[in-house]
Amino acid sequence: MEQAFSNYEVWFVTGAQLLYGGDAVVQVDGHSNEMVNGLNESGKLPVKVVYKGTANSSKEVEAVFKAANNDDRCIGVITWMHTFSPAKMWIHGLQQLKKPLLHLHTQYNAEIPWDTMDMDFMNLNQSAHGDREFGHICTRMRIRRKVVVGYWKDEATQHKIAVWMRVCAGWADAQDMLIIRFGDQMNNVAVTDGDKVEAEQRMGYHVDYCPFSEVMEYFKQVKEEEVDALVKAYFEQYDHDQELEDKSSLGYKKVWNSAKAELALRAILKEKGAKGFTTNFDDLGDVDVENTGLGFDQIPGLASQRLMAEGYGFGAEGDWKSAALYRTVWVMNQGLSKGCSFLEDYTLNFDGENSSILQSHMLEICPMIAASKPRLEVHFLGIGVRKTPTARLVFTSKVGSGVTATVVDLGNRFRLIVNDVECIEPKPLPKLPVASALWIPMPNFEVGAGAWILAGGTHHSCFSYDLTAEYWEDYAEIAGIEMMHINKNTTLSEFKKELRMNEVYYMLNKALC
Ligand code: MN
Repeated sequence: MEQAFSNYEVWFVTGAQLLYGGDAVVQVDGHSNEMVNGLNESGKLPVKVVYKGTANSSKEVEAVFKAANNDDRCIGVITWMHTFSPAKMWIHGLQQLKKPLLHLHTQYNAEIPWDTMDMDFMNLNQSAHGDREFGHICTRMRIRRKVVVGYWKDEATQHKIAVWMRVCAGWADAQDMLIIRFGDQMNNVAVTDGDKVEAEQRMGYHVDYCPFSEVMEYFKQVKEEEVDALVKAYFEQYDHDQELEDKSSLGYKKVWNSAKAELALRAILKEKGAKGFTTNFDDLGDVDVENTGLGFDQIPGLASQRLMAEGYGFGAEGDWKSAALYRTVWVMNQGLSKGCSFLEDYTLNFDGENSSILQSHMLEICPMIAASKPRLEVHFLGIGVRKTPTARLVFTSKVGSGVTATVVDLGNRFRLIVNDVECIEPKPLPKLPVASALWIPMPNFEVGAGAWILAGGTHHSCFSYDLTAEYWEDYAEIAGIEMMHINKNTTLSEFKKELRMNEVYYMLNKALC
C-alpha cells in the first residue's frame, strides 16, 4: 500500500491568525506537528501527510496554495482551523487552489479540560467556530471539498481521510491519463460514446486513436523467445489441461498467438505512455491474417485480462470512458485485498427475491476478482471479424459486497452512476467458458436495475469489492460531475425526483455542466 502511493503526498495547512500573539501561533504549530505525526504513524493513511505550517494571513494562504498547485507530489490539501482564522484571508488562496481540498473539522484535545480551562485555552482552541467560518467562505465561493468531522485520533475519522486520499491518487493519475483506442467505437452504439473534449476538461482523460497497422509494427517486432517464455509463465501461473502444453496442438498455437498479442499490446502501450486502451472485435489487422500473419487471430481477450490486472484501463468495443474509469478504480484500489474488474451486464436470472444479473464479457474480465486460481482454456469464439478458437482465463468471482460504477454523457454533462451490489455464489457454466460474477444490485434486482436504466447507465461498468460509494462521492465532488447512487435505501419514486431535480440544477449551474 505504501509503495503504491509513495510518490504522492497530501499537504496539511493549519489556519490561525496573529491576533493572540506569536506565542499562540507557536503552540498552534506544535499541536499541528503532533497531529500530522500522529496521522502518519496511525498506519491508516495510504498517503503521507506533510505539515506545511500555519497560515496567518491572506498572503500566506495564497503562497501555500500556489505551491500546492505547482508541486506534482501534492495530490490534495487538508485544512484545519485551530484558532479562529478570519475567512476573508482565505479568499485569494481558494480562488487559486486547483488541488482537491479536505476540510478537517477536529480539535487538538478530545475532551474539555473542565477544571483547568481558562481564556488562554479558549483563545487557542477555537476550531468549533473557526472551522465554521472557514466552511462559510468555501460554501459562499462554491468550493468543492470533502468535509470530515471527527476526532483526529479516531479510526473512523482517519478512514474518511484515507478514502479521500485514495481518490486524490486516482484523480492525480487521471490528469495525465492517456487512453488508446485500437480501432474505433463499435458502430451504432450510443452509451459507450461521448464527448472526448469535455471528458478531458472535466476528468483529465485524454483519448487517442491508434490505427491497427501501427499495432502491427510492434507485433512484427515481438521475438519468438519472448512469446515462448510468456507461454511458459502462463502454464506456471494458471490451471490448464495438460494437452494444452503439446506444442503440436491447435490449443498451444492459440495460447502462443494470445501471448504474442499481449507482448505487442504491452509494448505499444508502454511506448506511448498509455494507461489504458480499448479494442474492437471488428478491427484486428489484416483481413488475410491466415496468410500474411499481420493481424491478431482473434480479439486479444487474454491480453486484456492480464493487462487489466497490471493496471491498464480497459474498455471493450471502443468504450474509452470505461477504460479510463477502470484505470481510476484500479489506482484507488491499490493495496486493497479483493480486487476490481471491467464487467458487462450479460444475462438476467429471475429468481424472486434473489433475482440477479450475470456479469461477464466475451472474454475480458480481470482475474483480480477470481475466487480461486483462474483456468487457462482455449475455445471457439464466433463473434467479430475472426471466427476461431482463442485463449482466455476462466473463473468465477468472489462472493461479497462491492460497488460498480459508470460514467455516461448526457449531452450537457457527465453523470456518474454508482450501484451497491452483492455478489452471490454463481453456478458452473460448462457451455459458456468465460469468467463471470453473479450479483444482486441493491436494494434488489427490480429497483436496482430499474434505477440504473432510468439514470441512463451503460451495460459496461467498473466494479470493485474494496471501494464503497464514499469513494465515488469524493470522486464526483473533485471532478464536479453529477453522481446518482443506487443503494439499499433507493426507491424508484425518490430516485426519479432526484433525476428531475438534477436536470434543473445542472441546467442552471453552468459552471458544473
Ligand atoms: Mn461489451
